[in-house]
Amino acid sequence: MTKSPKILIAGGGIGGMAAALSLLRRGYDVEVYEQARELGEVGAGVQISPNGSRALDALGVFEKLKAASCAPQRKEFRLWNTGRSWPMFDLGSMAIEKYGYPYLTVYRPDLLATLVDAVREIAPDAIHLGSAVTDVDLRDDGVTLHFEGGASAEGDLLIGADGVKSTVRKSVFGDDEANFTGMIAWRAVIPMERLPEHMRQMVGWTWIGPGGHMVNYPLRGGQIMNMIGTIERDDWQVESWYTQGSIEECANDFAGWHEDVQALIHAAPTVMKWAFMERPPRQQWTKGRVTLLGDACHATLPFLAQGAVMSIEDGVVLGRCLDKYDDPLEALVRYEQARVERTSKMVRGAKENTARFHESALATEEGAVKYMESEWSRDPINDRYDWLYRYDVLTTEI
Ligand SMILES: Cc1cc2nc3c(=O)[nH]c(=O)nc-3n(C[C@H](O)[C@H](O)[C@H](O)COP(=O)(O)OP(=O)(O)OC[C@H]3O[C@@H](n4cnc5c(N)ncnc54)[C@H](O)[C@@H]3O)c2cc1C
Repeated sequence: MTKSPKILIAGGGIGGMAAALSLLRRGYDVEVYEQARELGEVGAGVQISPNGSRALDALGVFEKLKAASCAPQRKEFRLWNTGRSWPMFDLGSMAIEKYGYPYLTVYRPDLLATLVDAVREIAPDAIHLGSAVTDVDLRDDGVTLHFEGGASAEGDLLIGADGVKSTVRKSVFGDDEANFTGMIAWRAVIPMERLPEHMRQMVGWTWIGPGGHMVNYPLRGGQIMNMIGTIERDDWQVESWYTQGSIEECANDFAGWHEDVQALIHAAPTVMKWAFMERPPRQQWTKGRVTLLGDACHATLPFLAQGAVMSIEDGVVLGRCLDKYDDPLEALVRYEQARVERTSKMVRGAKENTARFHESALATEEGAVKYMESEWSRDPINDRYDWLYRYDVLTTEI
Protein backbone atom coordinates (compact mmCIF):
# COMPACT_ATOMS: atom_id res chain seq x y z
CA MET A 1 0.00 0.00 0.00
CA THR A 2 1.42 3.35 -1.03
CA LYS A 3 0.90 6.48 1.06
CA SER A 4 -0.60 9.70 -0.23
CA PRO A 5 0.20 12.28 -1.50
CA LYS A 6 0.86 11.13 -5.04
CA ILE A 7 4.16 12.70 -6.11
CA LEU A 8 5.22 13.47 -9.67
CA ILE A 9 8.89 14.03 -10.42
CA ALA A 10 9.89 15.83 -13.62
CA GLY A 11 13.41 14.76 -14.63
CA GLY A 12 15.11 11.41 -14.14
CA GLY A 13 18.72 12.53 -13.63
CA ILE A 14 20.75 11.96 -10.49
CA GLY A 15 18.60 14.34 -8.39
CA GLY A 16 15.25 13.06 -9.67
CA MET A 17 16.20 9.42 -9.13
CA ALA A 18 17.61 10.10 -5.66
CA ALA A 19 14.37 11.86 -4.71
CA ALA A 20 12.29 9.01 -6.17
CA LEU A 21 14.24 6.46 -4.16
CA SER A 22 13.98 8.48 -0.96
CA LEU A 23 10.19 8.81 -1.37
CA LEU A 24 9.57 5.24 -2.50
CA ARG A 25 11.53 3.90 0.49
CA ARG A 26 9.17 5.91 2.69
CA GLY A 27 6.15 4.33 1.00
CA TYR A 28 4.93 7.21 -1.19
CA ASP A 29 3.30 6.82 -4.58
CA VAL A 30 5.88 8.23 -7.02
CA GLU A 31 6.04 8.63 -10.81
CA VAL A 32 9.17 9.91 -12.58
CA TYR A 33 8.90 11.54 -16.02
CA GLU A 34 12.12 11.75 -18.01
CA GLN A 35 12.39 13.31 -21.48
CA ALA A 36 15.08 10.90 -22.73
CA ARG A 37 13.87 7.78 -24.51
CA GLU A 38 16.63 5.72 -22.91
CA LEU A 39 18.19 6.08 -19.52
CA GLY A 40 21.83 6.98 -19.62
CA GLU A 41 24.11 9.56 -18.08
CA VAL A 42 26.84 11.58 -19.68
CA GLY A 43 30.01 9.48 -19.85
CA ALA A 44 31.98 11.48 -17.32
CA GLY A 45 33.07 11.33 -13.73
CA VAL A 46 31.49 12.70 -10.60
CA GLN A 47 33.16 13.17 -7.24
CA ILE A 48 31.16 12.01 -4.24
CA SER A 49 32.47 13.70 -1.12
CA PRO A 50 31.81 12.14 2.32
CA ASN A 51 28.50 14.04 2.74
CA GLY A 52 27.37 12.48 -0.55
CA SER A 53 28.49 9.00 0.49
CA ARG A 54 26.50 9.46 3.70
CA ALA A 55 23.41 10.57 1.74
CA LEU A 56 23.73 7.57 -0.60
CA ASP A 57 23.96 5.33 2.45
CA ALA A 58 20.73 6.87 3.73
CA LEU A 59 19.20 5.78 0.40
CA GLY A 60 20.56 2.25 0.81
CA VAL A 61 22.83 2.27 -2.25
CA PHE A 62 26.21 3.28 -0.86
CA GLU A 63 27.77 -0.21 -0.65
CA LYS A 64 26.73 -1.09 -4.19
CA LEU A 65 28.08 2.15 -5.59
CA LYS A 66 31.30 1.90 -3.64
CA ALA A 67 31.99 -1.44 -5.29
CA ALA A 68 31.73 0.22 -8.75
CA SER A 69 33.76 3.31 -7.88
CA CYS A 70 37.24 4.41 -6.82
CA ALA A 71 38.34 5.67 -3.45
CA PRO A 72 41.48 7.58 -4.47
CA GLN A 73 44.13 7.85 -1.77
CA ARG A 74 44.42 11.61 -1.97
CA LYS A 75 43.97 14.76 -4.00
CA GLU A 76 46.90 16.95 -4.88
CA PHE A 77 47.35 20.33 -6.43
CA ARG A 78 49.88 20.55 -9.23
CA LEU A 79 51.33 23.67 -10.74
CA TRP A 80 50.32 24.14 -14.36
CA ASN A 81 53.83 24.40 -15.87
CA THR A 82 56.39 22.75 -13.57
CA GLY A 83 54.08 20.09 -12.15
CA ARG A 84 55.17 20.87 -8.58
CA SER A 85 52.67 19.31 -6.19
CA TRP A 86 50.99 20.28 -2.92
CA PRO A 87 48.62 18.12 -0.84
CA MET A 88 44.92 19.08 -1.08
CA PHE A 89 43.00 16.36 0.80
CA ASP A 90 43.68 12.91 2.06
CA LEU A 91 40.75 11.01 0.60
CA GLY A 92 41.39 7.53 1.92
CA SER A 93 41.45 6.42 5.54
CA MET A 94 41.65 10.02 6.82
CA ALA A 95 38.30 10.90 5.22
CA ILE A 96 36.70 7.88 6.88
CA GLU A 97 38.30 8.71 10.22
CA LYS A 98 37.19 12.32 10.08
CA TYR A 99 33.79 12.06 8.42
CA GLY A 100 32.80 8.43 8.73
CA TYR A 101 32.57 7.98 4.94
CA PRO A 102 35.05 7.92 2.05
CA TYR A 103 35.43 10.34 -0.82
CA LEU A 104 34.56 8.39 -3.94
CA THR A 105 34.99 9.08 -7.62
CA VAL A 106 32.27 7.52 -9.72
CA TYR A 107 31.48 7.05 -13.39
CA ARG A 108 28.20 8.95 -13.83
CA PRO A 109 26.40 6.15 -15.72
CA ASP A 110 27.22 3.81 -12.79
CA LEU A 111 25.72 6.27 -10.30
CA LEU A 112 22.54 6.71 -12.32
CA ALA A 113 22.20 2.96 -12.95
CA THR A 114 22.57 2.21 -9.24
CA LEU A 115 19.79 4.66 -8.37
CA VAL A 116 17.54 3.46 -11.22
CA ASP A 117 17.95 -0.21 -10.25
CA ALA A 118 17.01 0.61 -6.66
CA VAL A 119 13.95 2.59 -7.79
CA ARG A 120 12.80 -0.22 -10.09
CA GLU A 121 13.28 -2.81 -7.37
CA ILE A 122 10.62 -1.02 -5.33
CA ALA A 123 8.41 0.24 -8.17
CA PRO A 124 9.15 -1.44 -11.52
CA ASP A 125 6.87 0.90 -13.50
CA ALA A 126 7.56 4.22 -11.77
CA ILE A 127 9.92 5.58 -14.45
CA HIS A 128 8.33 6.92 -17.64
CA LEU A 129 10.77 7.58 -20.47
CA GLY A 130 10.17 9.73 -23.55
CA SER A 131 8.05 12.06 -21.39
CA ALA A 132 9.21 15.61 -22.03
CA VAL A 133 7.34 18.05 -19.81
CA THR A 134 6.16 21.11 -21.70
CA ASP A 135 3.98 22.83 -19.11
CA VAL A 136 2.65 22.67 -15.56
CA ASP A 137 -0.89 23.39 -14.45
CA LEU A 138 -0.77 24.23 -10.75
CA ARG A 139 -4.13 24.35 -8.93
CA ASP A 140 -5.33 24.45 -5.29
CA ASP A 141 -6.47 20.83 -5.50
CA GLY A 142 -3.67 19.25 -7.55
CA VAL A 143 -1.10 19.58 -10.27
CA THR A 144 -1.05 18.49 -13.91
CA LEU A 145 2.04 17.86 -16.00
CA HIS A 146 1.68 18.25 -19.76
CA PHE A 147 3.99 16.36 -22.10
CA GLU A 148 5.16 16.74 -25.65
CA GLY A 149 2.70 14.87 -27.87
CA GLY A 150 -0.33 15.86 -25.78
CA ALA A 151 -0.35 13.35 -22.88
CA SER A 152 -0.64 14.54 -19.28
CA ALA A 153 -0.33 13.24 -15.70
CA GLU A 154 -2.10 14.20 -12.47
CA GLY A 155 -0.66 14.30 -8.98
CA ASP A 156 -0.87 15.94 -5.59
CA LEU A 157 2.69 17.28 -5.55
CA LEU A 158 5.30 18.01 -8.21
CA ILE A 159 9.07 18.02 -7.88
CA GLY A 160 10.93 19.79 -10.66
CA ALA A 161 14.23 17.90 -10.96
CA ASP A 162 14.69 18.77 -14.60
CA GLY A 163 18.11 20.38 -14.44
CA VAL A 164 19.63 23.79 -15.19
CA LYS A 165 17.16 24.66 -17.93
CA SER A 166 14.16 23.43 -15.90
CA THR A 167 10.81 23.65 -17.66
CA VAL A 168 9.03 23.32 -14.31
CA ARG A 169 10.94 26.33 -12.95
CA LYS A 170 10.17 28.33 -16.07
CA SER A 171 6.52 27.39 -15.97
CA VAL A 172 5.97 28.08 -12.25
CA PHE A 173 8.45 30.88 -11.47
CA GLY A 174 9.54 32.31 -14.83
CA ASP A 175 13.02 31.75 -16.17
CA ASP A 176 16.23 32.42 -14.24
CA GLU A 177 18.82 34.79 -15.55
CA ALA A 178 21.89 32.93 -16.80
CA ASN A 179 25.13 34.74 -17.51
CA PHE A 180 28.17 33.50 -19.35
CA THR A 181 31.11 33.24 -16.94
CA GLY A 182 33.89 33.78 -19.49
CA MET A 183 34.99 30.15 -19.06
CA ILE A 184 34.64 27.04 -21.13
CA ALA A 185 35.36 23.49 -20.05
CA TRP A 186 36.73 20.43 -21.77
CA ARG A 187 35.93 16.92 -20.62
CA ALA A 188 37.06 13.43 -21.58
CA VAL A 189 37.17 9.92 -20.18
CA ILE A 190 40.42 8.20 -21.00
CA PRO A 191 41.15 4.46 -20.85
CA MET A 192 43.90 4.22 -18.23
CA GLU A 193 46.15 2.07 -20.44
CA ARG A 194 46.48 4.98 -22.87
CA LEU A 195 48.31 7.05 -20.25
CA PRO A 196 52.02 6.88 -19.42
CA GLU A 197 52.79 4.46 -16.58
CA HIS A 198 53.57 7.18 -13.99
CA MET A 199 50.10 8.73 -14.45
CA ARG A 200 48.18 5.52 -13.71
CA GLN A 201 47.68 6.38 -10.07
CA MET A 202 44.76 6.26 -7.62
CA VAL A 203 45.24 9.95 -6.97
CA GLY A 204 43.26 13.01 -8.08
CA TRP A 205 45.20 15.96 -9.47
CA THR A 206 43.97 19.54 -9.70
CA TRP A 207 46.28 21.43 -12.04
CA ILE A 208 46.10 25.14 -11.33
CA GLY A 209 47.44 28.00 -13.40
CA PRO A 210 46.76 31.61 -14.32
CA GLY A 211 43.43 31.68 -16.17
CA GLY A 212 42.65 27.97 -16.07
CA HIS A 213 42.69 24.67 -14.24
CA MET A 214 42.40 21.00 -15.02
CA VAL A 215 41.13 18.18 -12.83
CA ASN A 216 41.84 14.51 -13.39
CA TYR A 217 40.90 11.53 -11.25
CA PRO A 218 40.47 7.75 -11.69
CA LEU A 219 37.11 5.98 -12.12
CA ARG A 220 35.83 2.38 -12.09
CA GLY A 221 38.56 0.88 -9.93
CA GLY A 222 41.20 2.66 -12.01
CA GLN A 223 40.13 1.51 -15.50
CA ILE A 224 39.36 5.06 -16.62
CA MET A 225 40.84 8.51 -16.00
CA ASN A 226 38.38 11.40 -15.95
CA MET A 227 39.58 14.78 -17.20
CA ILE A 228 37.92 18.20 -16.95
CA GLY A 229 39.83 21.27 -18.05
CA THR A 230 38.53 24.81 -17.56
CA ILE A 231 39.96 27.78 -19.39
CA GLU A 232 39.05 31.46 -19.53
CA ARG A 233 37.85 32.15 -23.06
CA ASP A 234 34.86 34.06 -24.35
CA ASP A 235 34.60 33.18 -28.04
CA TRP A 236 32.19 30.27 -27.59
CA GLN A 237 29.12 30.26 -25.33
CA VAL A 238 27.04 27.10 -25.77
CA GLU A 239 25.82 25.50 -22.51
CA SER A 240 25.60 21.85 -23.50
CA TRP A 241 27.03 18.53 -22.34
CA TYR A 242 27.02 17.12 -25.84
CA THR A 243 29.16 19.31 -28.10
CA GLN A 244 32.21 17.60 -29.51
CA GLY A 245 35.43 19.61 -29.80
CA SER A 246 38.80 18.75 -31.27
CA ILE A 247 41.91 17.48 -29.50
CA GLU A 248 43.94 20.23 -31.27
CA GLU A 249 41.70 23.02 -29.98
CA CYS A 250 41.80 21.59 -26.46
CA ALA A 251 45.59 21.13 -26.54
CA ASN A 252 45.91 24.67 -27.80
CA ASP A 253 43.89 26.00 -24.85
CA PHE A 254 46.43 24.33 -22.55
CA ALA A 255 49.56 25.18 -24.59
CA GLY A 256 52.54 25.63 -22.28
CA TRP A 257 51.01 23.46 -19.54
CA HIS A 258 52.92 20.49 -18.11
CA GLU A 259 53.60 17.44 -20.29
CA ASP A 260 51.24 15.34 -18.11
CA VAL A 261 48.38 17.71 -18.98
CA GLN A 262 49.26 17.41 -22.64
CA ALA A 263 49.48 13.61 -22.24
CA LEU A 264 45.93 13.56 -20.83
CA ILE A 265 44.56 15.58 -23.73
CA HIS A 266 46.33 13.57 -26.41
CA ALA A 267 45.31 10.24 -24.85
CA ALA A 268 41.61 11.20 -24.93
CA PRO A 269 39.61 9.28 -27.57
CA THR A 270 37.42 12.35 -27.94
CA VAL A 271 36.89 15.65 -26.11
CA MET A 272 33.64 17.45 -25.39
CA LYS A 273 33.35 21.15 -24.65
CA TRP A 274 30.77 23.36 -23.05
CA ALA A 275 30.46 26.91 -21.80
CA PHE A 276 29.95 27.65 -18.12
CA MET A 277 26.95 29.82 -17.32
CA GLU A 278 26.07 31.01 -13.85
CA ARG A 279 22.76 31.65 -12.17
CA PRO A 280 22.37 33.47 -8.85
CA PRO A 281 21.25 31.03 -6.12
CA ARG A 282 17.44 31.13 -5.84
CA GLN A 283 16.01 32.04 -2.46
CA GLN A 284 12.57 30.59 -3.16
CA TRP A 285 11.76 27.43 -5.05
CA THR A 286 8.49 26.19 -3.55
CA LYS A 287 5.05 27.39 -4.58
CA GLY A 288 1.94 25.58 -3.38
CA ARG A 289 2.19 22.00 -4.55
CA VAL A 290 5.41 22.43 -6.52
CA THR A 291 9.00 22.45 -5.41
CA LEU A 292 12.35 22.20 -7.18
CA LEU A 293 15.40 20.07 -6.52
CA GLY A 294 19.03 19.83 -7.67
CA ASP A 295 20.30 21.99 -10.53
CA ALA A 296 16.77 23.26 -11.20
CA CYS A 297 17.02 25.40 -8.05
CA HIS A 298 20.73 25.62 -7.19
CA ALA A 299 22.76 25.17 -10.36
CA THR A 300 26.41 25.72 -9.60
CA LEU A 301 29.80 25.95 -11.15
CA PRO A 302 31.46 22.59 -10.50
CA PHE A 303 34.41 24.06 -8.57
CA LEU A 304 33.41 22.54 -5.23
CA ALA A 305 32.25 19.31 -6.92
CA GLN A 306 28.96 19.44 -5.01
CA GLY A 307 26.12 19.80 -7.56
CA ALA A 308 25.17 16.14 -7.82
CA VAL A 309 25.90 15.49 -4.18
CA MET A 310 23.58 18.33 -3.12
CA SER A 311 20.80 17.04 -5.36
CA ILE A 312 21.07 13.68 -3.57
CA GLU A 313 20.97 15.42 -0.17
CA ASP A 314 17.86 17.33 -1.34
CA GLY A 315 16.02 14.08 -2.01
CA VAL A 316 16.71 12.64 1.44
CA VAL A 317 15.75 15.86 3.26
CA LEU A 318 12.57 16.18 1.18
CA GLY A 319 11.55 12.66 2.16
CA ARG A 320 12.16 13.39 5.84
CA CYS A 321 10.05 16.56 5.65
CA LEU A 322 7.12 14.75 4.04
CA ASP A 323 7.26 12.14 6.79
CA LYS A 324 7.47 14.70 9.56
CA TYR A 325 4.80 17.23 8.55
CA ASP A 326 1.19 16.13 8.15
CA ASP A 327 0.46 18.93 5.71
CA PRO A 328 2.39 18.12 2.50
CA LEU A 329 2.43 21.78 1.45
CA GLU A 330 4.07 22.71 4.73
CA ALA A 331 6.54 19.85 4.19
CA LEU A 332 7.64 21.39 0.86
CA VAL A 333 8.21 24.77 2.50
CA ARG A 334 10.16 23.15 5.34
CA TYR A 335 12.30 21.28 2.82
CA GLU A 336 13.17 24.53 1.06
CA GLN A 337 13.94 26.23 4.38
CA ALA A 338 16.19 23.35 5.42
CA ARG A 339 18.17 23.47 2.18
CA VAL A 340 18.34 27.06 0.96
CA GLU A 341 21.14 28.39 3.14
CA ARG A 342 23.44 25.42 2.59
CA THR A 343 22.92 25.24 -1.16
CA SER A 344 23.32 29.03 -1.61
CA LYS A 345 26.56 28.98 0.36
CA MET A 346 27.77 26.13 -1.84
CA VAL A 347 26.93 28.03 -5.07
CA ARG A 348 28.77 31.12 -3.79
CA GLY A 349 31.74 29.05 -2.59
CA ALA A 350 32.09 27.32 -5.96
CA LYS A 351 32.22 30.71 -7.68
CA GLU A 352 34.84 31.96 -5.23
CA ASN A 353 37.02 28.96 -6.08
CA THR A 354 37.31 30.18 -9.69
CA ALA A 355 39.69 32.93 -8.63
CA ARG A 356 41.53 30.55 -6.30
CA PHE A 357 42.15 28.02 -9.06
CA HIS A 358 43.04 30.61 -11.73
CA GLU A 359 45.08 33.07 -9.65
CA SER A 360 47.62 35.17 -11.55
CA ALA A 361 50.25 34.61 -8.82
CA LEU A 362 50.40 31.01 -10.08
CA ALA A 363 52.27 32.21 -13.18
CA THR A 364 55.63 31.72 -11.44
CA GLU A 365 56.75 29.06 -9.02
CA GLU A 366 57.83 31.69 -6.49
CA GLY A 367 54.41 33.36 -6.61
CA ALA A 368 52.73 29.98 -6.43
CA VAL A 369 54.59 28.91 -3.29
CA LYS A 370 53.46 32.03 -1.39
CA TYR A 371 49.95 31.79 -2.75
CA MET A 372 49.52 28.11 -1.88
CA GLU A 373 50.70 28.79 1.66
CA SER A 374 48.12 31.55 2.22
CA GLU A 375 45.12 30.04 0.37
CA TRP A 376 45.56 26.29 0.23
CA SER A 377 47.38 25.22 3.37
CA ARG A 378 45.55 22.99 5.83
CA ASP A 379 43.58 25.59 7.81
CA PRO A 380 41.98 27.50 4.94
CA ILE A 381 41.13 24.21 3.23
CA ASN A 382 39.51 23.00 6.42
CA ASP A 383 37.46 26.21 6.77
CA ARG A 384 36.19 25.99 3.22
CA TYR A 385 35.37 22.26 3.00
CA ASP A 386 34.68 20.92 6.47
CA TRP A 387 31.11 22.34 6.66
CA LEU A 388 30.31 20.63 3.37
CA TYR A 389 31.61 17.20 4.29
CA ARG A 390 30.28 17.03 7.87
CA TYR A 391 26.63 17.56 6.91
CA ASP A 392 24.36 14.71 7.92
CA VAL A 393 21.15 14.42 5.88
CA LEU A 394 19.53 12.31 8.58
CA THR A 395 20.11 14.60 11.55
CA THR A 396 20.07 18.06 10.03
CA GLU A 397 17.22 20.13 11.46
CA ILE A 398 14.06 20.15 9.35
C1 LIG B 1 31.90 19.67 -15.54
C2 LIG B 1 31.03 19.30 -14.43
C3 LIG B 1 31.57 18.54 -13.43
C4 LIG B 1 30.79 18.22 -12.34
N1 LIG B 1 31.36 17.49 -11.34
C5 LIG B 1 30.63 17.23 -10.24
C6 LIG B 1 31.19 16.49 -9.18
O1 LIG B 1 32.35 16.08 -9.24
N2 LIG B 1 30.44 16.26 -8.06
C7 LIG B 1 29.14 16.70 -7.99
O2 LIG B 1 28.49 16.47 -6.96
N3 LIG B 1 28.57 17.39 -9.02
C8 LIG B 1 29.27 17.66 -10.12
N4 LIG B 1 28.71 18.35 -11.14
C9 LIG B 1 27.32 18.83 -11.01
C10 LIG B 1 26.31 17.77 -11.35
O3 LIG B 1 26.58 17.21 -12.60
C11 LIG B 1 24.90 18.34 -11.35
O4 LIG B 1 24.75 19.19 -10.24
C12 LIG B 1 23.88 17.22 -11.28
O5 LIG B 1 23.89 16.48 -12.47
C13 LIG B 1 22.48 17.77 -11.03
O6 LIG B 1 21.55 16.74 -11.10
P1 LIG B 1 20.06 17.06 -11.47
O7 LIG B 1 19.36 15.75 -11.40
O8 LIG B 1 19.56 18.19 -10.68
O9 LIG B 1 20.09 17.59 -12.97
P2 LIG B 1 20.50 16.79 -14.28
O10 LIG B 1 21.59 15.84 -14.03
O11 LIG B 1 20.71 17.82 -15.34
O12 LIG B 1 19.20 15.95 -14.63
C14 LIG B 1 18.04 16.56 -15.12
C15 LIG B 1 17.21 15.51 -15.85
O13 LIG B 1 15.98 16.10 -16.25
C16 LIG B 1 15.71 15.72 -17.60
N5 LIG B 1 14.87 16.79 -18.17
C17 LIG B 1 15.25 18.04 -18.51
N6 LIG B 1 14.20 18.71 -19.01
C18 LIG B 1 13.14 17.86 -18.98
C19 LIG B 1 11.78 17.99 -19.36
N7 LIG B 1 11.29 19.12 -19.90
N8 LIG B 1 10.96 16.93 -19.17
C20 LIG B 1 11.43 15.77 -18.61
N9 LIG B 1 12.71 15.59 -18.28
C21 LIG B 1 13.55 16.64 -18.43
C22 LIG B 1 17.08 15.61 -18.24
O14 LIG B 1 17.03 14.81 -19.39
C23 LIG B 1 17.87 14.98 -17.12
O15 LIG B 1 17.81 13.58 -17.14
C24 LIG B 1 29.45 18.66 -12.26
C25 LIG B 1 28.90 19.41 -13.30
C26 LIG B 1 29.68 19.75 -14.37
C27 LIG B 1 29.09 20.56 -15.47
